[in-house]
Amino acid sequence: MTIFRRSFVFILLLVLLTAGVVVRSNILGGNDKVEPLTLSANTDTTEEFSDNEPAVLYKIVQHGINDPVWKISISGKGFAGLDKPLRLRLENWGEWQDVDDYYLRELTAKPAIRRDTSKAGEFLLDVPTGWNGAFEVSYTIPIARVGSAINKRLHLLPSWNEYAAGGYSVNTLMHVDAGDRAIRRIAQIVPPKGLFVASGWGGLSRGEQEAPILGPANEMDNTPILIGMPSRQHVEKHDGVAYEAVQFGPGNDLTADALQVAKAVVPLYERHSGYSSKQPVRIFFVAKPGGATGLRSAFISTYDPDDKLLTPAFKHLMAHELFHRWLGADFVRANEAIAWFHEGFTDYLSLWHCAAAGVIDYDYFSSRMSAIDAEARRASAYRKVAFAQEGVRWRSGSNEELAYRGGAVLAFLIDVELRKQGRPGLMQMIADLGAQKSAEPVTLSRIRAWMEEHGLGSIYKTHVESKGLPPIGDLLAVAGFSPKEVPVELTYFGIREENGWIVELDPEGPAAKAGFRVGDQFIGRYPGYRSERVSVSEQVTTKFRYALEIIEPGIAGTSLDVKRGKEELTIRVQPSLIQGGLASRYEADVPKLKKFFAFQPEKTDSGNENFIGRLQDQKVRPLVFFPQIYGY
Ligand SMILES: [Zn+2]
Repeated sequence: MTIFRRSFVFILLLVLLTAGVVVRSNILGGNDKVEPLTLSANTDTTEEFSDNEPAVLYKIVQHGINDPVWKISISGKGFAGLDKPLRLRLENWGEWQDVDDYYLRELTAKPAIRRDTSKAGEFLLDVPTGWNGAFEVSYTIPIARVGSAINKRLHLLPSWNEYAAGGYSVNTLMHVDAGDRAIRRIAQIVPPKGLFVASGWGGLSRGEQEAPILGPANEMDNTPILIGMPSRQHVEKHDGVAYEAVQFGPGNDLTADALQVAKAVVPLYERHSGYSSKQPVRIFFVAKPGGATGLRSAFISTYDPDDKLLTPAFKHLMAHELFHRWLGADFVRANEAIAWFHEGFTDYLSLWHCAAAGVIDYDYFSSRMSAIDAEARRASAYRKVAFAQEGVRWRSGSNEELAYRGGAVLAFLIDVELRKQGRPGLMQMIADLGAQKSAEPVTLSRIRAWMEEHGLGSIYKTHVESKGLPPIGDLLAVAGFSPKEVPVELTYFGIREENGWIVELDPEGPAAKAGFRVGDQFIGRYPGYRSERVSVSEQVTTKFRYALEIIEPGIAGTSLDVKRGKEELTIRVQPSLIQGGLASRYEADVPKLKKFFAFQPEKTDSGNENFIGRLQDQKVRPLVFFPQIYGY
């Protein structure tokens, strides 16, 4: 979900830095074998600093295991002769500025540091004349206990429980802003004795870890930083790409399952786009409430120890985040003004690849696309906003819903149309846009040009410039799905809701028993959606109709977030199941679908065919198919 901006120069730099991590950290098993992780303390990298190039060492030392704090020190050198004052910035990600005097403690510096009173979160070094270009800034960040009031309110600030302490770099490490100057940045993360460190920069290490900080020089690269004792870890290497998964907490082993998903989709992303970043694929799980975040260097998710293995919806989410390396962050970077493109197309193409790789079955693909279409049409922005419209804030309110869901339906439409014309399919657009190697993010005009060149001029007019989506059933039919309705259960909370407020509760219903009250206002829920489109049949006559058909039934840890006065509460509630739902499902025409879920890239004259050629020279491994035992 996070979008990164980077110039092309940095893509190259990134590849080099990443190779450095792999060699230095020496934690990878042999090719194609699952091996237990062999862990070693990382070698020292400080000798690589030279005096005349700007370099910064970020040292994070955790003191304590219960009620820990992070002592941060930032040492820089090579900054003499700057034409602007040296600025340090701590991003307000997670809203730390709301609790500034709690959060940023014992700030000291040499030379002296002061807050820029005109810009919250920014600091200036008072540099004396004849300054030698070196500085040292230190401060302490508290780690909130998981479940404490501050953690519930500001859950993106660092937190700890008995399994791990964890936070994000972007709101714990100040970015050193030296204008356009390239800065070498190294992170050194020091856990209490006997504990491990996991980060997107250095993977997993026993004891302290040192790794280059990746990403563009004009911002702090955001990565999770976890310190604790992992319960599970898996590392494998395929075609030069390291796959690493680490779990902090009890319960089922999610790491093997997660790696299987990554190992199934990533090689297809590479083959179908002609691009491999060669960066490690890193996946971290922590047992606590929360959610999942996809960052450039790692995917991190919280989990409930009662969870069974990964659901198809979660696998799709992982595949979505991994696909952002190909669309959004690295290979094809896109402008936020067209967020429906990199979010919606990523959502569709990751689902398509999950089906193509056997990570999900064809039935899940069709029912999920049908549900995505229903969600897009439920968004209040639907038919009010066109994708090509200028000035739309795609990340706000129901525009965002339309961007993700409507964008995915548009992507499906384009894929189907291209195949009708005998062309390879939508991945060709991603391969072509990436092969252009433009320094600028993709804009609407490049998408339009590509569509017009590929016989999609009229689709552009009717569904990008104009409002509204095509009937999903028609698209599914072309792919090889024919509709059928299947009786399913509905999720019953016993809530009557009006405009987002609880107006009446069934006194015997699950919500009343869990502690919800009339007057509570809904602000969130888990799970967010039902994975298939369900309608409520006429036999259902209850007036307590809240979320009957839109929340996935039978999920452990189902909860609703409400606002009650000034308080925000997350209340766990297990809905009961009632009869009377009708799910839109589809009969699969398997031979036809096998064609739809195959992709043969067109040759381009951009040079990336060499890469495809190389891939084809290698032995093609059978795709990983595993039985559908993980579904709900
Ligand atoms: Zn996304």
